[in-house]
Amino acid sequence: MKTVTLLDKKFKLCINGVQVKTAIDHLADRINSDYRDKEILFIAVLNGSFMFAAELVRKVKPLCRISFVKIASYQGDTSDGVVRELIGLKEDLNGRHVILVEDIVDTGFTFEHMMTQIKTKYKPASVAIATLLFKPQSYRKSLPVDYVGLEIPNDFVVGWGLDYSGYGRNLEDIYTIA
Ligand code: 5GP
Repeated sequence: MKTVTLLDKKFKLCINGVQVKTAIDHLADRINSDYRDKEILFIAVLNGSFMFAAELVRKVKPLCRISFVKIASYQGDTSDGVVRELIGLKEDLNGRHVILVEDIVDTGFTFEHMMTQIKTKYKPASVAIATLLFKPQSYRKSLPVDYVGLEIPNDFVVGWGLDYSGYGRNLEDIYTIA
């Protein structure tokens, strides 16, 4: 079994890079068909989505643009106690077909916050999410997660842009705690 050690933790291979690329191809096929005659604005959420975003946009056929944002998280008065603010968004989303690009949707709090901010600040023609990974057992929200690369169990993973304390983002496969 292939393993990697990052700082104090050992991780074991759980999804190989070929499977990840195949899942992204299928996801891109769906986007290509759903947005055939539309222009897409991808909003990729850094840092985790950089690898997925790069692989995805390469496979997308409709006219598209991509922009990158970050999430600033701080203690505040929300249901889970954390305020998540979208920062660095310079684009005008009014009337655009927006697809948020995320590395992973876990509880869904981050995704829901982003959707709320976009819908209150702008009037996009549509907003959807594309996420490389989704943990259905941990998801607490009712918003549909539109485009999912791979569903995974409720375990911590690294690789393909996802990190452990900043390390492991460069791994070509996805690993889980050993
Ligand atoms: P949510 O708000 O959906 O609970 O969490 C989303 C964020 O939590 C992700 O964007 C990611 O930064 C982090 N996260 C959730 N699960 C994992 C995981 O298994 N591995 C890593 N590296 N980050 C995770």
